[in-house]
Amino acid sequence: MPADVEAGTTAHRPDESHSFDFEQDMDACYTAFDKDEDGLLDINEFGSLCRALFRNDRGQVYTVSPEMQADMFSVFDKNEDGFIDREEFAYCWTRWIKRIVRPVNVFLAVDVQNDFISGSLNISRYSAQQNGEEVIEPINALLDTVQFDAVFYSLDWHPSDHVSFFDNLAQRKLHSSSPVSFEEAKMFDTVVFEGPPQIRQKLWPRHCVQESWGAELHKDLKVVENSVMVYKGTNPEVDSYSVFWDNKKMTQTSLVSQLEQVNATDIYICGLAYDICVGATAADALVIGYRTILVDDCCRGVDLEDIERTKRNLVSNHGVIVNSSQVKAMVEGRDRRPELGYKLALELRNKEKKHKDGQQMEETEEEQQE
Ligand SMILES: [Zn+2]
Repeated sequence: MPADVEAGTTAHRPDESHSFDFEQDMDACYTAFDKDEDGLLDINEFGSLCRALFRNDRGQVYTVSPEMQADMFSVFDKNEDGFIDREEFAYCWTRWIKRIVRPVNVFLAVDVQNDFISGSLNISRYSAQQNGEEVIEPINALLDTVQFDAVFYSLDWHPSDHVSFFDNLAQRKLHSSSPVSFEEAKMFDTVVFEGPPQIRQKLWPRHCVQESWGAELHKDLKVVENSVMVYKGTNPEVDSYSVFWDNKKMTQTSLVSQLEQVNATDIYICGLAYDICVGATAADALVIGYRTILVDDCCRGVDLEDIERTKRNLVSNHGVIVNSSQVKAMVEGRDRRPELGYKLALELRNKEKKHKDGQQMEETEEEQQE
C-alpha cells in the first residue's frame, strides 16, 4: 500500500476546474474563489479553495472530509458570521495558504550512528527484517536531490557513566517501585532508579559513548555543508529518546531554538531507531506544533509491532508518512497534503486561544489591581 493511502489521504482525478495559481496576489485569489461575487467566502467557496490547495504534483485533488473542511473554515471565520471576509482572508493567506505553498523545510536524520548499525546496539540483532545500514542510501539520495532549508543530524551522545547502560546498574540505587530488583535485572529490563530524578529506564548495552567509534555517524552518510549536529543523552542521569527533550522533559536540546531561528514550518524525520528515537522525536515535533513528516523508507527500527504503533500514533496526530520519492514535490510545495494543512490550522487556533487567554488574564489582573 502506498504511504499516502496509509496516511488516510486519497488523491482523485485531476480537477482542472478548481486549479489556481497561488503565486498570484491575495486579492486575485480572493476574487477567484468568491464565485458568487458577494465579497465574502462561504463554506462552499472555501471548499473550492481547499480543492485547489490540497492536490499532488500531478494535479490530483486530495479528499478533504466535510468535518475537516468545516473545522478549518471556523479557524479563519474569526467573527463566526459564516463567512471569511477580506480581513479574515488576509490572515488565512499569510498564516496558512502561503505556508502551505511555500513551507520552510527542515530535514532531521536521527542517530545514524555506528553502534545502531553494526556496533553494540545493532538493530538487526533484534529483528531479522531490520538493517540500519539500509537507511543510508535513501537518505543520501534525498540530500542529493532535495533542497531543504536546514539539515540536522542528531547523535546519541552518552557520558561513560550513563544511566541507560546495563553495566552501570550498580552505580545507582533502584527505587522501591522498580518492577525488577538489582539482583534480577537483565539487559533490556526496565527498572526504576531512585534518582533524583526518579526515572523508569530500559537497560541497554553500553552504546554511543562520547568520542567513541560507536558514536560516530556512519562513514557513508552524506553530511551536507552548513548542517547542524544535535547531541542528546548527554546528562548521565536521564536518557533522551527524543531529539527535542530528555525523557523527563527537564532539558531541551539546541534543536528547538534552531528550528525557531530558521522559521521552520515542516520537519522531515527519519533514521534510527524507528520505534524509539525517531518515533519519540516525531511525537514531540507534533506536540510543539510542527507539520511533521516521517520518511518511511529512511527509517529502520527494533520491533515491528512498535514500528506500526509509532506510525499509527503519528497519523492520528495529523502527521504524514511518506516514501522518500514523494518528498521533493512536497518540499517544493507542489504536493500539498490536507493533513498538514489541517495541522497548521489547528496550531493557528491554539495560538489564538493562548493569546486570548493571555489577554483575559491581563484584564483580570488589571481589574484586581483597581
Ligand atoms: Zn542511548
